[in-house]
Amino acid sequence: MPLKIAIVGRPNVGKSTLFNRLAGKKLAIVDDQPGVTRDRRYATGNLGDIPLLLIDTAGFEDLTDDSLESRMRVQTELALDECDVAFFVVDAREGVTPLDRIFAATLRRRDKPVIMIANKAEGHQAAATAEEARVLGFGEPLHLSAEHGEGISELYEATEKYR
Ligand code: GDP
Ligand code: MG
Repeated sequence: MPLKIAIVGRPNVGKSTLFNRLAGKKLAIVDDQPGVTRDRRYATGNLGDIPLLLIDTAGFEDLTDDSLESRMRVQTELALDECDVAFFVVDAREGVTPLDRIFAATLRRRDKPVIMIANKAEGHQAAATAEEARVLGFGEPLHLSAEHGEGISELYEATEKYR
């Protein structure tokens, strides 16, 4: 059985880039709630020798501010329902934002294990974020570059204990 991973976090932190990096074959999901499922994408994939079912949360990047927050919350909750482990992604360059704190609060209310990822951390640009991210309540983040494929072995080590 693959380990089910929900990739969650605010828009533009690199969730889909991480999804694509870990994904092998994408799965077409058919559901009778297209308005809701359209915002989640599924793929099988792997992290080293760990088989994964990846869930990417998306679809809210183009919404107005009014609907953004509630729509994100719904997508995140649905993805969390389905997953074994959540990858919570923040942007190492931008640091922790108010929206990141809202996601963190949602995650803390749940009992799913969370692996916190500071993405876009290529070239060691993330020292400040490491300290800052502790306030979110998930310890020190893993530094990753989804785009450049850095930090994947550390992500493997953090994920392995949940398989
Ligand atoms: P999402 O909205 O969270 O799914 O974010 P995307 O995966 O669409 O990425 C948003 C932007 O960040 C894109 O321009 C990506 O190319 C860029 N990006 C993603 N991962 C990295 C990374 O590791 N380093 C850098 N520098 N940019 C990244
Ligand atoms: Mg995306």
